[in-house]
Amino acid sequence: SNEFLNIKNLHIHYVTEEGTVKAVNGVNMEINKGETLGLVGETGAGKTTTALGILRLVPNPPGKIIDGEIFLEGQSILELPEDEMRMIRGNKVSMIFQDPMTALNPVMTVGEQISEVIEIHEKLSNKEAFEKAKKMLELVGIPGARAVDYPHQFSGGMKQRVVIAIALACNPGLLIADEPTTALDVTIQAQVLELMNNLKNEFNTAMLLITHDLGVVAEVCDKVAIMYAGEIVEYSKIEDLFENPSHPYTRGLFGSIPNLDEEVDRLKPIKGLMPDPTNLPSGCKFHPRCPHATEYCKENHPEDTEIAPEHKVKCHIYTGQVKPKGEI
Ligand code: SF4
Repeated sequence: SNEFLNIKNLHIHYVTEEGTVKAVNGVNMEINKGETLGLVGETGAGKTTTALGILRLVPNPPGKIIDGEIFLEGQSILELPEDEMRMIRGNKVSMIFQDPMTALNPVMTVGEQISEVIEIHEKLSNKEAFEKAKKMLELVGIPGARAVDYPHQFSGGMKQRVVIAIALACNPGLLIADEPTTALDVTIQAQVLELMNNLKNEFNTAMLLITHDLGVVAEVCDKVAIMYAGEIVEYSKIEDLFENPSHPYTRGLFGSIPNLDEEVDRLKPIKGLMPDPTNLPSGCKFHPRCPHATEYCKENHPEDTEIAPEHKVKCHIYTGQVKPKGEI
């Protein structure tokens, strides 16, 4: 099968003194080899928690995966012993974060940092691993000779390339990137995105790209999952989403109906606030902010409705229970 990641009905909670934070509430997701899924939503929607769940890195306590299944190449990983999980991290799955500095060790050369990862996962001598590290640097557009330099000797964009080189050092099947370009200026952003696209094509890597930037999504993603209050409220192929954004929340994010050829900017701010995750609204969690909400929405939680092939929406407008007030 071509499937690399399959998440079924994932639930992740954090137990805090203020109450139980329901961060991820029944997420389903599939990513095939060579495919990029964009996970889009506001801060606090549960995107990063979902990613940490895939790596089983949700800090416990206070976090806990309370239900669901995660499969990597068909293998269920939630019950695996920790030592096997450690081999999966960085080998099958690696993650790059928003701020490259948190991922780099300031007192080690970048070559040492890349070869360290290689040595853990491959039986190579120090020297061989360092040679391979140089090749990884070249792959991300940095001269191999710079392997002996320290992180502070690189610019922000170059540091993020180093982080990508580390993440790719063991040729992972899945690369998770959490806002990888947010800290970079626009030109460097474009270069890093192009690099990720090239690597995906070259190695057939599956990617999960977490972002709140629809421009980034348009550039590199094949499919998109829109997340709100711990749920995926819309899931679709990229072309469909841009042509026919259907959930009222997605519509709100787009502001107006955009077009793939136009410049799409950051998400539009939507009226109202994200709900308190310790006290989520009943029924449809978007109802306090939705212009179409009815009593029915407050009482009934919408399930996925497939409105077109591979295009799913959680909204009662599509189950026929709610009539939209004017245009959606
Ligand atoms: Fe709005 Fe109701 Fe649809 Fe929720 S189910 S998005 S409240 S119309």
